[in-house]
Amino acid sequence: MTDLYARHKAVLPDWLALYYEDPIEITHGEGRYVWDAQGNKYLDFFGGILTTMTAHALPEVTKAVSEQAGRIIHTSTLYLNRPMVELAERIAQLSGIPDARVFFTTSGTEANDTALLLATAHRQSNQILAMRNSYHGRSFSAVGITGNKSWSPTSLSPLQTLYVHGGVRTRGPYAGLGDAEFIAACVDDLEDLLGHVRPPAALIAEPIQGVGGFTTPPDGLYAAFREVLDRHGVLWIADEVQTGWGRTGDHFWGWQAHADAGPPDMLTFAKGIGNGMSIGGVVARAEIMNSLDSNSISTFGGSPVTMAAGLANLGYLLEHDLQGNARRVGGLLIERLRAIAAQLDGVREVRGRGLMIGVELVKAGSDEANPEAAAAVLEAAREEGLLIGKGGGHNTSVLRIAPPLSLTVAEAEEGAAILERALRRAQ
Ligand code: PMP
Repeated sequence: MTDLYARHKAVLPDWLALYYEDPIEITHGEGRYVWDAQGNKYLDFFGGILTTMTAHALPEVTKAVSEQAGRIIHTSTLYLNRPMVELAERIAQLSGIPDARVFFTTSGTEANDTALLLATAHRQSNQILAMRNSYHGRSFSAVGITGNKSWSPTSLSPLQTLYVHGGVRTRGPYAGLGDAEFIAACVDDLEDLLGHVRPPAALIAEPIQGVGGFTTPPDGLYAAFREVLDRHGVLWIADEVQTGWGRTGDHFWGWQAHADAGPPDMLTFAKGIGNGMSIGGVVARAEIMNSLDSNSISTFGGSPVTMAAGLANLGYLLEHDLQGNARRVGGLLIERLRAIAAQLDGVREVRGRGLMIGVELVKAGSDEANPEAAAAVLEAAREEGLLIGKGGGHNTSVLRIAPPLSLTVAEAEEGAAILERALRRAQ
């Protein structure tokens, strides 16, 4: 055990998850690579759980941050703040939500917490619909709507949460159904729930579940849900913390794969927009955003330094069409991983969109989840210089691949080759 790991364990909570038996101390990064304190170099296929959206140490972001920090780091949102207004204007326009208002937070958790506050205030209901296997954050209220119970400590949240099917397709009651049958079964489940309760305030859902293992619903699921929700007067909140900003390649937002439904009533964002700086937020139609009947504030949400990072990062992403890059390079990578999986017994599915790719591992010759193999692949990949993530339900058997969106074809091939060797070693 390294000295730093021992000190970490002595002073930080047991429940603060750490990857690897011998955890890595990352000291610097460049492009799609990071280095640890011992000087080992890694190709980063996880971008710090998607926090590095474009590239590590992107000069445009570093320059914008240091210039802003040299002027002023922050005072308060009690004064006008030009970078905050500018980033809000850009996000409002990109959100697809009509008459959009934007509120900045410092994390995805706080963004979802705010969305819950707005939805419950607007609809005067403390009931929430959430998806089974979902993850929405770690606060008192966010754990109360997180269906993935391995990431949701028991909470006595006063919210009443009802969980809806629609995340997981490879296990559970709807496993093996075709797209249309799957959607019909999930809609039926939703109708059943709504037929027996007072209307909940909102349904919150990740268009592709992140922590849950990059579970990818059939296109149109949320369009079908929307029709039911509208009939019952229930708002739809898309949690775009992992799926936003072009990550899924085909679309700028994950909800757009369900575009028949139109934009959600609210969307929440975080992670990559600041390329590592802590920015989260909520976009909502004005009538919902302005539901609160008293003043409110977020002391650090919208600080000029983080907003400068967001503006520079978003500008870079749009200028270099990184969404298109995610579609092209991600498409090649999915194809390559599917070809590798076809030769192995232990891969149930390679799924996802763009640069959000899940590889679900099972015990050879069965459908049983294989968390031991997932852990072994993570370790083996690390030994060969590749960082990936893992996820899924309580049995964490899905490898998660979500590199910075500027990934090159050569890097995708390098990572796939390492992953192939790691998968073979773990068989
Ligand atoms: N929503 C989703 C979909 C997430 O993946 C996460 C983080 N993994 C969160 C919310 C919470 O974000 P944060 O950790 O920034 O609070």
